[in-house]
Amino acid sequence: MDERRGEQQGAGSHPPIASAGSTLPPAQQAWSRYVTHRLDCLTCQDIDAGPCGESERLHRVWLGLSNRALDQIADKAN
Ligand SMILES: [Zn+2]
Repeated sequence: MDERRGEQQGAGSHPPIASAGSTLPPAQQAWSRYVTHRLDCLTCQDIDAGPCGESERLHRVWLGLSNRALDQIADKAN
């Protein structure tokens, strides 16, 4: 059990998927952090608990990075 806790703490700074040799784009890293938080967070899993500030923050970060990535794609297309 202690080993599992250690892995989860390490997952915050380095997403597990990114350690497979390839680096995920920032937007996908942000989405991974958001989904991981939603799965682990008791507030997010309790529909009566109200909005989770950390979840909203992670979602905003993902939205910002996604919009920036889309802008870059649009710039290259023009
Ligand atoms: Zn949460």
